[in-house]
Amino acid sequence: MTRCLDCGSERNTDQCPVCGLTSAAAELVFRRRLIRQMAVFLAGSLLFPYISQIYPPLDIDAMLVFFGLIFFLGLVLAILLESRARARKEIEILRHLFTGLIPIPLILSAALFLNGKLDSPSKVMYHPTAVVSRYQMKGVIRGTRRLLVPSWRPDRRLERLAVDPDDFDRFHDGDKINVGVAPGALGIPWFYGVYRRSE
Ligand SMILES: [Zn+2]
Repeated sequence: MTRCLDCGSERNTDQCPVCGLTSAAAELVFRRRLIRQMAVFLAGSLLFPYISQIYPPLDIDAMLVFFGLIFFLGLVLAILLESRARARKEIEILRHLFTGLIPIPLILSAALFLNGKLDSPSKVMYHPTAVVSRYQMKGVIRGTRRLLVPSWRPDRRLERLAVDPDDFDRFHDGDKINVGVAPGALGIPWFYGVYRRSE
């Protein structure tokens, strides 16, 4: 007994009794769908790091790690699906997992965008602090630049602020700064800006 690659129905003949496709036609349809789903998945995956630089969440590094895991899982599932389909092995569970994973990068990107876009500048809070150290990593998209400052949140020691290249060059260890934090329209606090503090 095998299953149809298109609709997943059991079948004993070459032509699927449910969708009517032959095994060759079903395989073609399956591959086209996989490519289309992969395109949606990759689009969301490129969008997320980009939006996370426009409206950087305070916990950006944790989010990027989580996002990286989803991306990795998506790639592994796509490769497994492809090779198991080629070998005519059971794929129904993998197919469901993959289908569920496809929209997640786009949903996360949209959430991050709306969280910042719909936020009101009047709600920005300013926290006086000072630069402890700086950290830069040349990266795939635009690199990673962080200012490390003591945290104002009770459960953390340090905040890692995702600054742009200008702010990264403008500030140095020991500089006194105010950090603007917006609450986020969806409740995800994000880093609004960093300003020199004059006393
Ligand atoms: Zn079928």
